[in-house]
Amino acid sequence: MRKKIVAGNWKMNTTITEGINLAKEIMSSSINLDSNVKVLLFPPFTHLSKIIELTNKNNIFTGAQNCANKVKGAFTGEISPLMLSDMNANYVIIGHSERRAYYNETNDILLEKIKLALENNITPIYCIGENLDQRESNNHFNIVKEQLEKGVFSLNKNDFSKIIIAYEPVWAIGTGVTASPEQAQEIHAYIRNLIVERYNNDISNKTSILYGGSCNPTNAKELFANKDIDGGLIGGAALKADDFIKIINSF
Ligand code: PEP
Repeated sequence: MRKKIVAGNWKMNTTITEGINLAKEIMSSSINLDSNVKVLLFPPFTHLSKIIELTNKNNIFTGAQNCANKVKGAFTGEISPLMLSDMNANYVIIGHSERRAYYNETNDILLEKIKLALENNITPIYCIGENLDQRESNNHFNIVKEQLEKGVFSLNKNDFSKIIIAYEPVWAIGTGVTASPEQAQEIHAYIRNLIVERYNNDISNKTSILYGGSCNPTNAKELFANKDIDGGLIGGAALKADDFIKIINSF
């Protein structure tokens, strides 16, 4: 059985005190996680050490929103995968659409980050998804295919089997417009099938594919009920403990 995952991407939000309070509320809530369900928190870098102290137990873990494509050296302002693993941040989001759009992160750079994360025993969540123009011109399947081919399909079987995929249509991120369960299931099934073609059935069946884009307590259940949707990458709704807990309880 593949893992079901709810991941909260806090982006550049919360002070350390607010972040600690949010993590504490989540940790002390009445969620009772099945051994097959994981909750992942992605606070800003500045909060990581404090929030890792509170989490990394009971199937709730903390990771980073990004990492460098280098291990160490003269790269001012960057945080390396080695530094993350040294502090037990064992998950990292790679290729969020905001990183692709605002920081010009290409599929090639993202592949470098993924390889280094894996070398440092960090599980990458690789984000893919089309923008509105690409969806409206019916080009979304090609875009997602290219992001997979250039971003991760050169990994060997063993490495690929360690990653998590998040399908996040850019037009749904932070907009309040969610992909319908049918739209999401259709492209998740397409992604799963590409993994079969590139690797095999077994690896494809074991790969968790998350949906992201205005997922909230009202629509999570209907989205997660689809056979190829293994949970969600949650932005806005991850900043409110009640909403985030309701989403987790949608499984
Ligand atoms: C995201 O940024 O990954 C995201 C899914 O955001 P939101 O839930 O706010 O649309």
